[in-house]
Amino acid sequence: MAGDELKEFRQGARTTEAANVYISYEKLLAGANSIDYGDLINLPIELLQSRPDVAAMLRRQYPYVLADEYQDVNRACARLLQLLAGPDGRNLWVVGDHRQSIYRFRGASPANMSGFQIDYPAGVRQELANNYRSCAPIVSLCSAAARCMHGANHAQSNDGWRSARAELEAGSAPRISMAVTDSDEAQAEGIANRIADFRCQGIPYSEQAILCRTHYQANALAKLLAKCGAPVHYAQGLLDRPEARDLLAVLQASIPSKSSVIALQRVATISDVGLSPIQGALLVRLTAETGLSALDAIQRSEVEDVFGEIPGFQKLRQLLHVLKDEIDPARCLERFVFHESSYLADLLGAEGASAPRDLAEQAQICAIRQTIELARMFTGSRRRLDPASAPHADMRVSFLEYVRRLMASGSQPALNLGDDLGGFDSVAMITVHAAKGLEFPVVFVPNLSEGRFPPRSREPLIAEPPGMAQDNSGDGDEQCLFFVAISRAREHLVLSRSTSSGDATLAPSRLITLIDGGLHELGITETRWADTQTRDAPEREVHADVNPVGKPVFTSSQLTAYLQCPRQYYYSRLGLDMAVDHPATVQQVPKTLQAALTRERIRPVRQPNRLIARFDTVHICVEADMIACDVEGRLVIAKHLMGKPQDRDQADPLLALYRRAADDSAPSQPSRIEIHYLSTGDRRVVARSKKYEPGRLLKFVEAAAALEHGEYPARPAEPGLCARCPYLVACPT
Ligand code: SF4
Repeated sequence: MAGDELKEFRQGARTTEAANVYISYEKLLAGANSIDYGDLINLPIELLQSRPDVAAMLRRQYPYVLADEYQDVNRACARLLQLLAGPDGRNLWVVGDHRQSIYRFRGASPANMSGFQIDYPAGVRQELANNYRSCAPIVSLCSAAARCMHGANHAQSNDGWRSARAELEAGSAPRISMAVTDSDEAQAEGIANRIADFRCQGIPYSEQAILCRTHYQANALAKLLAKCGAPVHYAQGLLDRPEARDLLAVLQASIPSKSSVIALQRVATISDVGLSPIQGALLVRLTAETGLSALDAIQRSEVEDVFGEIPGFQKLRQLLHVLKDEIDPARCLERFVFHESSYLADLLGAEGASAPRDLAEQAQICAIRQTIELARMFTGSRRRLDPASAPHADMRVSFLEYVRRLMASGSQPALNLGDDLGGFDSVAMITVHAAKGLEFPVVFVPNLSEGRFPPRSREPLIAEPPGMAQDNSGDGDEQCLFFVAISRAREHLVLSRSTSSGDATLAPSRLITLIDGGLHELGITETRWADTQTRDAPEREVHADVNPVGKPVFTSSQLTAYLQCPRQYYYSRLGLDMAVDHPATVQQVPKTLQAALTRERIRPVRQPNRLIARFDTVHICVEADMIACDVEGRLVIAKHLMGKPQDRDQADPLLALYRRAADDSAPSQPSRIEIHYLSTGDRRVVARSKKYEPGRLLKFVEAAAALEHGEYPARPAEPGLCARCPYLVACPT
């Protein structure tokens, strides 16, 4: 099947699956005698279509209809409106702005705006030309952006606005600035400095906002800003808070099973135990291989010999001892927080009995309280569902599993600081979607880099139903989001981007081209925010194996695991159980694939471990799922994958490493790199890419250098990895 055909086939299969799920969902709803939000729109449509007399009666009763945010209605809502307002729309008033159409992901269709005159021939269209919100330079920039926007709606004019408000004193800060930095940390530091400057000029924190494209970016930036001491409030996920992770680690460490050992790393370093991270790591190392629970393992004489004299160690032992039988997670946590430790008191300091002193302290207290509440809610609902078994089961285990499921599904509760944020003045960090309809005197729009704003595009999982969203203009949604973001600013707009993040280089966002002309007209050029912070030294703990000639040797599996997350790799080296994908064996190869390999007389080679990629600084011993020779003597190196073939599979850096190892180890032997799909029996030959392979190989060389220096930062390669990570509760993130 050709590429496009295959894509369509896959999308068709997923769409059919979704349709089947929908049928079952509808049956369940009907069985429960319930309706959902969609029915609230759809059932009235059916009624008004089947009963014209009811439609006429309603039109008589409500002769005038007003619809706000018309650019955000979906086709179903538009149809309902049409039935209510009558066929020609004579008495319908809609307010909408096609430049701000940002809810396509929930079915909003800009087609409603472009088709307004067709849907309502008697409707009159008028432009809102005056902007009463923003100062003249910001209005001018928004207008320049609007003129360059193409995606929102071709049929609508993209006229700009006129600034219609009286000008206010700007202070010494520029109205608009566009900054570039070398790193995410420098960007956060620059934003923190500007926040403080604006505060000095009399603009309270609460009148400043940072608008991020995604929650993931907001979360990451909020952490960096917290390190800079910026009073930023972000409705972060509760379970991403360090206090929640501490409490989960305490729960896990207290469970009498082998899995409790990994949590020792974190519990050992909480304030009133007080071991250092290195001591914590050593403790885990000494206990990991015993196969015992944390409490049993730390009572062994060899651990006692090393740690016995350290006061915190005795505290740890006592803590695990008293908590081991508390099978109710909420009670276990309450006992830890309020009776057996000074955890809360240490967070609150000497004045712990009084109210929190700042937003950070308020967040800490709220995180502790909410985590205990989450555990209480969990046990309560379990008892209701299963009253017979609940009293005897150790619900700490099921609670920890529940927490992981919440995180993995992206459904974790947000940290709630209370409606008034505890009365503390703070800068709001929100997503651009959530900022729609809001305005602030100062707005920061960070991360204007490719892959961030706009984020990397993903193929839609299922095809949109015909007629629901008729705008396929690529960047249209992102342009609208960018327009929404910059037009939230009243007095000052601060745009920024970094040129790199970790090892990755970041190109400027293509959305910046929308405002290039506007910035030029206003005489604004990009400024550079210097990085003045000293970075934390990377965590260094173990050293690489070094071969006799002094060049370090790593295996491809080691480096692949390290690239996945260096910290996770470090924990896995401690000898703890870890769920890993084991290479599939030849016996697991489906029959169709086996037949094809046999037909071509492909035979495994005798000494596969001779395959070594030789770089100037490191040798990498390549372990592949299949290393074989075909009948023509060609070396065939294959990676086994589950799932269906995807184009992106070919971009796996490991395949570049296979090729390099084949070139280095058997330069005179022709070779072929393949991917074998174990669920479908498909087989793909990987094309050589002179353009991309050097960059992919560099990742391995850099990982080897970092490993050699014993650097193990907590740096997951993908957003969802932590939720699946077995070391979540131990990890410092
Ligand atoms: S929790 Fe996340 S950052 Fe920590 S070790 Fe696991 S994957 Fe890495």
